[in-house]
Amino acid sequence: MYSSDSDGLRAARAQLVSYSARLLADGLALGSAGNISVRTGDIVAITPSGVSYAELRPADICLIAADGTELACREPPSSEAPMHLAIYAATNAAAVVHTHSPEVIALSASRPELPAIHYAITGLGGPVRVAPYVRFGSDQLAAAAVDALDGRSAVILRHHGAVTYGRDLAQAYDRALLLEWLARTYRIALSYGEPPTLSAAELAEVTAEARRRRYGERRGG
Ligand SMILES: [Zn+2]
Repeated sequence: MYSSDSDGLRAARAQLVSYSARLLADGLALGSAGNISVRTGDIVAITPSGVSYAELRPADICLIAADGTELACREPPSSEAPMHLAIYAATNAAAVVHTHSPEVIALSASRPELPAIHYAITGLGGPVRVAPYVRFGSDQLAAAAVDALDGRSAVILRHHGAVTYGRDLAQAYDRALLLEWLARTYRIALSYGEPPTLSAAELAEVTAEARRRRYGERRGG
């Protein structure tokens, strides 16, 4: 059983509305394109389909169960709800952000992955794969996204957009911004010719050092 008025769900609805506005402001989506969700316990709060982010209100946010059953929805949930649910089922995600951002879409059309030309890509788990094109809203797209996410917190969808996830919406959203920035940086680098990339060993060294420093911060209180 659930209560759509619980504190957690109220907070999730408000958060989704404010981050939806950021999607537009940051140029990660237009109109009502893209979609974002937050998992609270067994319930997923997700943006509805067809409501412009500029007009979105907390009451418009749709609540669905892990099997896709609509629990409280004024409008139908996002057409990519199956993809969000598949990612929650396959990972430890507590929030998922799906964008239609121009730099990753441009890359997706002609490249198999976003390579590591900057060490910050370790924040996404390493070079980001481009999942094969499948029609929006399909279970096949959900499966392709989950496959390409293996070991990563980001995936680029060919001729479509990108998906990131995180332990909360702030982290998932920051990863979407990082992904778009990395794609833009790669495109600029290509103007000098195909750039060399960081090796797996160099990326592993960055990951180990970042982990060591975080550990030090916690111990330092
Ligand atoms: Zn989409």
